[in-house]
Amino acid sequence: MNSIIDYIKIRDPNEKEFHQAVFEVVESIKPVIAKNPIYTSQKILERMIEPERTIQFRVPWIDDQGEIQINRGYRIQMNSAIGPYKGGLRFHPSVNLSILKFLAFEQVFKNALTTLPMGGGKGGSDFDPKGKSDREVMRFCQSFMSELYRHIGADTDVPAGDIGVGAREIGYLFGMYKKLNNEFTGVFTGKGLKWGGSLIRPEATGYGNVYFASEMLNTKKETLEDKTCLVSGSGNVAQFTIEKIIELKGKVITVSDSSGYIYDPEGINKEKLQFIKELKNVKRGRISEYATKYPNATFTQKKENETYNPLWDHKADCAFPSATQNEINEQDALNLIKNKVQLVSEGANMPSTPEAVKIFLDNNLLYGPGKAANAGGVSVSGLEMSQNSMRLSWDKNEVDRRLKDIMKNIHKTCLDASKQYGYSNNYVAGANIAGFTKVADAMIDQGLV
Ligand code: GLU
Repeated sequence: MNSIIDYIKIRDPNEKEFHQAVFEVVESIKPVIAKNPIYTSQKILERMIEPERTIQFRVPWIDDQGEIQINRGYRIQMNSAIGPYKGGLRFHPSVNLSILKFLAFEQVFKNALTTLPMGGGKGGSDFDPKGKSDREVMRFCQSFMSELYRHIGADTDVPAGDIGVGAREIGYLFGMYKKLNNEFTGVFTGKGLKWGGSLIRPEATGYGNVYFASEMLNTKKETLEDKTCLVSGSGNVAQFTIEKIIELKGKVITVSDSSGYIYDPEGINKEKLQFIKELKNVKRGRISEYATKYPNATFTQKKENETYNPLWDHKADCAFPSATQNEINEQDALNLIKNKVQLVSEGANMPSTPEAVKIFLDNNLLYGPGKAANAGGVSVSGLEMSQNSMRLSWDKNEVDRRLKDIMKNIHKTCLDASKQYGYSNNYVAGANIAGFTKVADAMIDQGLV
């Protein structure tokens, strides 16, 4: 097992996020490998860490000043053992191969946990939609799709949104795909409701994370009622996490974006959440405006070279990191413990560093890792694919009911797998073991391809 870690370090020395995601899985599945020598003889792990296909391409476009801009586009088709490649596109200046490979790798396990037939992939660009006009975003998306279209398809690879890719971008990308291929198919998820999208898809990641957290609390006969919650981020995942927590009578006191965070001791109510939605989804403004509108709240600007994030240093019961990878470091985790937080449920992908995860586990926190806790988003994507294939659409209650069932099921699967291999209520080990065995067994069934 350790040789795999040395192997990827030598082969891809600069991909530190990818190493981090692989190390976590390798650690968790040691007892599975020990009990099932076929995984070693079939070199399953070695095969899983190598993407089936990596596509990298040039994305040239013209900005509003008439100047030519060049970005990089990517799609990692990681694993198709249990279904077509499936996973979001991320548009953010930090995007590179390491980040996309870690996201694609995690997606394989996450998608396996959903029980739906989806393989794993991820893609995106170092393009930054922040501050760009709608026309610039459209030109960029069209150029991006003029290459990507030949690599994807409803039964091949089905992209969706992620950071920087929301309803607007999916609309432009889908429109260009439809034009180039001369076909209207379910090649994307997260589509607009009027053109093949599913009800509850925008809500799914946030709602699903809160359903997962409620399941974890339920093991201690507790609920979210009257619990004080820390939420980071203010995008799609954070917004609907807050919405569901309010509905379940919890109190959310923080929200953030890349410029800093808001602390609102009175709690974010429905009206304030509506303000955040309009600010972020329509005006595309900065979160500091919340403190101007609601003066009892304070805005703390993000400082360069911060050693810890003050957002995680408030007295609370639960934390829902919903911004980005590695947003909770060792010091943040120690602060959460000091402030008596008893539950961390990850809306973002890999928001906690390995040091932070160790602290959560050593302190017996209810800790839901992203690949289990935030699987609600891709689950409803899977339901969107089903509805597209059947050419019908389910109502809100139907999709929400299925989402709830899936999250309950993922929670149980994690606990069962963790127990089976001698871990005590360890959701990290459980998610990795259950995801790994499902994909590994499918790979063995299908031969060396
Ligand atoms: N980007 C989301 C994730 O990390 C959703 C992917 C999808 O719906 O395909 O799971």
